[in-house]
Amino acid sequence: MIKKISYLGLGTMGSGMASNLLKAGYELTVWNRSVERNKPFARNGARVADSPANAVRDVDLVMYSLSNDQAVEEVVFGSNGILSGINAGQIAIDMSTVLPATSLREQEAYSKRGADFLDAPVFGSKKEAADAKLWIMAAGKRDAFEKVKPVLQHLGQTIHYFGKNGNAAAMKLVGNLIVALEMEALAEGLVLAQKAGLDLSTVMGVVKVADFRSPLLVGNGQNILKRDFSTSFALKLMLKDARLIEKFAGSLQSPIPALRVVQKNLESAVTLGFGKENASAVIKALEKEAGVEVKAR
Ligand code: NAP
Repeated sequence: MIKKISYLGLGTMGSGMASNLLKAGYELTVWNRSVERNKPFARNGARVADSPANAVRDVDLVMYSLSNDQAVEEVVFGSNGILSGINAGQIAIDMSTVLPATSLREQEAYSKRGADFLDAPVFGSKKEAADAKLWIMAAGKRDAFEKVKPVLQHLGQTIHYFGKNGNAAAMKLVGNLIVALEMEALAEGLVLAQKAGLDLSTVMGVVKVADFRSPLLVGNGQNILKRDFSTSFALKLMLKDARLIEKFAGSLQSPIPALRVVQKNLESAVTLGFGKENASAVIKALEKEAGVEVKAR
């Protein structure tokens, strides 16, 4: 039974998940590159480690949620990284959005240490992470998955098992392809509605109920009308994911013409300085081109 857990990477997603592990009563160790993010966890009873290697000693399970493949490279494979501290019998779960090829490299490296590994990225954002309502996908050995399932149940509302390592990471990219296109569709639609002189609150009234409705369209649409671009999923992370999708789809010769357009638009938004805002700020690049601002009257 899993009792002791380390959580590494206490950003938007990791902080919510680690808090829920503490609330669930696990003995928690945390590590974050910027040390100030450890402080609220220390105040709530977590042990703070001074390196990834030290964070994973003597725990049953290590979990991490890091920005990108490069961060995983440093925290897992780097000097004083997780791999230099992990031992046989332990389990590691990567909850970051990374290339399936990275998950496979992780699995190989962990197995050389006698440890099990699952890729388990998530859908949902800051609120779902904080409210333990994430949609989790997991891949790796079935018995390791069964051992960690009770832990994942404290973090998410659904858990889908995807079989062999890399498959959950692949599913995350499939989902994010859809998310990126949906966000672009919302932005283009709202700019067109504004240009056409439609009342945008009424437009959102239709988006909320019509057969193409989705929580993503409604939540982001309402925030755009309020000009609220506070970050729950940073635009620069969506661009990072678009580049991962491009690489992954390219490796399988799977066509992604629309994603290429979205990627260009995300790049423009980053160049304009909106990378740290929410991904919905992709609309700002279109607004600039259109010479309008989408706003409720
Ligand atoms: P975030 O708020 O930017 O946090 C990123 C975390 O990674 C921070 O703890 C950061 O440490 C750490 N980090 C970055 N580079 C590092 C490095 N080189 N070495 C060590 N630590 C490093 O990102 P997030 O929104 O929580 O996202 C985390 C992962 O979940 C990403 O892969 C993202 O694509 C994915 N995801 C995000 C969402 C979302 O809505 N936000 C939803 C689903 C999946 P510092 O504090 O030191 O910077």
